[in-house]
Amino acid sequence: PHGQSSLKATSNVAPTTPKPVKGLNAKREALFRFRKDLPIWPSADGIRQLLRSKNIMILVGETGSGKSTQVPQFLLHEAWCTGAIAITQPRRVAAISLARRVAEEMGSPLGSSSPASKVGYSVRFDNSVSANTRIKYLTEGMLLQEMLRDPSLSSYSTVIVDEVHERSVNVDLILGFLRNLLANGSSKRKGKPLKVVVMSATADVEALVNFFNAGFTKAEKSNPHAAPKSIAQDDDADTTAQELHADEVATCHIQGRLFPVKVVYLPAPTQDFVEAALKIIFQIHYKEPLPGDILVFLTGQDTVESLERLVNEYGDTLGPEVPKILALPLFAALPQAAQQKVFQPAPFKTRKVILSTNIAETSVTVPGVRYVIDSGKMKMKQFRSRLGLDSLLVKPVSKSSAIQRKGRAGREAAGICFRLYTEKDYQSLEQNSIPEILRCDLSDALLGMKARGVSNVLEFPFLNPPSREALEKALLQLLQLSALGDDGSISDVGLQMAKLPLNPALGRVIVEAAKVENDCLADVIDIVACLNVESIFINLMTEEKKEEAEEARRELFRRDGDHLTLLAAVRGYAAEQSDRKAWARKYFVSHRAMQNVMDIRKQLFQQCKQLKLLPESASLEVPATTYSEARNAAIIKSLLRGFATNTARLTPDGSYKTLIGNQTVAIHPSSVLFGRRVEAILFTEFVFTSKSYGRNVSAVRLGWIDEALANDHL
Ligand code: ADP
Repeated sequence: PHGQSSLKATSNVAPTTPKPVKGLNAKREALFRFRKDLPIWPSADGIRQLLRSKNIMILVGETGSGKSTQVPQFLLHEAWCTGAIAITQPRRVAAISLARRVAEEMGSPLGSSSPASKVGYSVRFDNSVSANTRIKYLTEGMLLQEMLRDPSLSSYSTVIVDEVHERSVNVDLILGFLRNLLANGSSKRKGKPLKVVVMSATADVEALVNFFNAGFTKAEKSNPHAAPKSIAQDDDADTTAQELHADEVATCHIQGRLFPVKVVYLPAPTQDFVEAALKIIFQIHYKEPLPGDILVFLTGQDTVESLERLVNEYGDTLGPEVPKILALPLFAALPQAAQQKVFQPAPFKTRKVILSTNIAETSVTVPGVRYVIDSGKMKMKQFRSRLGLDSLLVKPVSKSSAIQRKGRAGREAAGICFRLYTEKDYQSLEQNSIPEILRCDLSDALLGMKARGVSNVLEFPFLNPPSREALEKALLQLLQLSALGDDGSISDVGLQMAKLPLNPALGRVIVEAAKVENDCLADVIDIVACLNVESIFINLMTEEKKEEAEEARRELFRRDGDHLTLLAAVRGYAAEQSDRKAWARKYFVSHRAMQNVMDIRKQLFQQCKQLKLLPESASLEVPATTYSEARNAAIIKSLLRGFATNTARLTPDGSYKTLIGNQTVAIHPSSVLFGRRVEAILFTEFVFTSKSYGRNVSAVRLGWIDEALANDHL
């Protein structure tokens, strides 16, 4: 209400909590009661008070206490909050579902659906905001993209950095940029204050406080005009700066509520956690009363989908006296409508089983859960320096993750957590996982920094500085992609790459495809869109099904390899006008993944137009590509420009050895080239299980690789 905010500004009296507006319909009233019950609610005034005098707040609270949904609403009517509120999320699923929830709580339409909408979101390949958006949920990557256009974030009054405990590379970059901006950027913001709230379920508060305070100390030292000096300040500049700003950072702890959760371990380790989870799901289902949903933590889309199939198969055989069971997958690439289903209450006499990646660990809170089944594993990006590649490896979680997962069972009542590992295994887990920035390829991060004007990356304020060696390696890769000039500054190609929402290698492929003749950019966009989803072809379990699928897919298979096969699949699907679901079923293609591919290609198309890589007249309605050897070669050569280091040649013994590093790499069994011998291969993904595999493979000529490896000077 208006009167209230001016009162706050003039009298500085602690505001009362907002009263429900008269005439709220029953649904909003229920939502309001729900909000008032959240553990964070009593702290609303305290948070507002602290942020009036301080610019930085570290806020720690148990998952589900209401941080992500409530804090922006608490700040919305503050006198200093004249601009918008940005709130970052590590995952798109969370950004979208939070925006939807908060729009509902505020009684506002969502995103771009209406000009009156106050709450929106922005995630890769999907931007949904209105001219009046005040609260914007966005992925970390999107905030970094916005900083490219507007380095001082002038449209925002506050940036809330959520889920910092996940310590993604992007969050570390954001913290560094924000620290610089707070310490040195007030002139660029024309004096408008910027408030930063850093939120976490488990943060190391001290490290964050020190990190931000160090920024001020440093700025004071290097810039004598940075802040007004106090009278007390004279000769000892160092200590004065420290004293001036030692209390710049406010901290706030929210006491969570958690019911007791019993932990049950496996008596002996299991090889197959999908099987083990299946057993426990049905044990719970038979023994435990309703209501009480089950949340299962798995490693990725692949394991989620295979358990989903198994639960559905067994679920179909349940007798009429047993309640129904409803399996609901939850992973990043899931289309929105399917994601929303996990938040809806289970239908009558039905138990929900949510099969999730670690999204549900802290990012998304699923209501109704009483039982957690924890595989103890997660997929983690890891740089494998021997191969010079990032790959996703299945790794044991940290103790801190296991504790978070267990906590999901005790939010609404006492619960049980089944750990699919032994107590001894639990004891041997690492306390915390290593921040991503210390274990993965930094070329993307570095390109982003260069594009934002950081000339000396070694001096960038990192919460945990990566090794010099890792930074240098990334620099080399960017040089090889011609994203940087010889003097280390960003090139035009590099800037275009940075503006595309893709990793540097894929970005380079797009930029290259726009340059080569043969007009193959539209084809390359379709392939790149597929490489951005986990897999469009359904991975089948039984031999019989596998053969059936192979037969059905034969029409799509291309001898040149997987990339052209993907292209054929996208074109076939896109050309289908009447029943795409049936088309997908016929070819054993995932309809879900294809819907995502369609979204991504549309967005990439638009972005390429904005970057003038595609003419305005270009249309998505491309005709089914007619076969042309020259065109295929142009497509593959574009891919090579981004992935020249991901190549291997055939050796006399029939194995493939990488051109760089001479390591053995096998063609993944899922590839159309599996078992074939060709002169050389290019792979755009690398997986490591029992051995090293290239996935998504195309046949290439050795000469082409030489061409791509020879740095094309700009
Ligand atoms: P935190 O950020 O502290 O983890 P949140 O603000 O995300 O907490 O969640 C607060 C509460 O709001 C939780 O109980 C959660 O179940 C509920 N909630 C959040 N998003 C949704 C949604 N999209 N649909 C229904 N309930 C939601």
